[in-house]
Amino acid sequence: MTLFPDMCNAVTHESIIGRAVAAGKVEINCVDIRPYTTDKHGRVDDAPYGGGMGMIMAPQPIHDCFEDICRQRGSRPHLIFMSPRGKTLTQQRAVELSQTEGFVILCGHYEGVDQRIIDELVDEEISIGDYVLTGGELPALALTDAVCRMVKGVLSDDICFTEESHFSSLLEYPQYTRPPEWHGVKVPDVLLSGHHANIEKWRREMSLAETLKRRPDMLQNAELTEKDKKYLSLLNKKD
Ligand code: SAM
Repeated sequence: MTLFPDMCNAVTHESIIGRAVAAGKVEINCVDIRPYTTDKHGRVDDAPYGGGMGMIMAPQPIHDCFEDICRQRGSRPHLIFMSPRGKTLTQQRAVELSQTEGFVILCGHYEGVDQRIIDELVDEEISIGDYVLTGGELPALALTDAVCRMVKGVLSDDICFTEESHFSSLLEYPQYTRPPEWHGVKVPDVLLSGHHANIEKWRREMSLAETLKRRPDMLQNAELTEKDKKYLSLLNKKD
């Protein structure tokens, strides 16, 4: 639910998500809130009570829009409001949402939405980080993308995401493509060796090393083997 559906449609019809939509693997509907207003001037926002900057999205159009979605679906979907006050989006939450029957995202704009809509209708508030954007459309698209690529069949193989950063609370290993040498820097020999076990071992170790260097906090939630722990303590000793 948005006041700017074209912003959302432009992204949901492109690339991997666009192909998933075209193939019927996911269904995304960008619903315009504006036609639902009963204001005779077509207004969907108003000045904040108590004074202050900006405009607040009025409750009536959002309420009627959501009611119509519920009526069309024949059920009341989970309603997420994109908000910098929400809980920060994680890969884990994206995976969980990808396993549900679907949900509705409300995009705020201007200074936000009337609190009574949040209290009455919203089930969950999600933030995409500790910064403020102009509207909820980009955050909603970030959430939609993160969720859609976790839906079975959207990516060509599960391995596309199981080895990616954050899936198992580790960061990804470095990746290389042709040419084998560029600007005097060679691709690590092991990746050219064709030895799958060695490549797997190198990738795991690099993944552990990158996580230790950049995000040591993540290691607390990672599933580590005895071998992983040994490798990490070796790295810790080196420092
Ligand atoms: N006045 C609000 C505040 O201080 O919390 C910010 C309003 S912001 C300019 C307009 C809308 O953008 C919000 O209602 C929300 O939907 C969306 N938004 C902005 N930053 C966001 C973030 N980090 N995560 C999720 N949504 C965000």
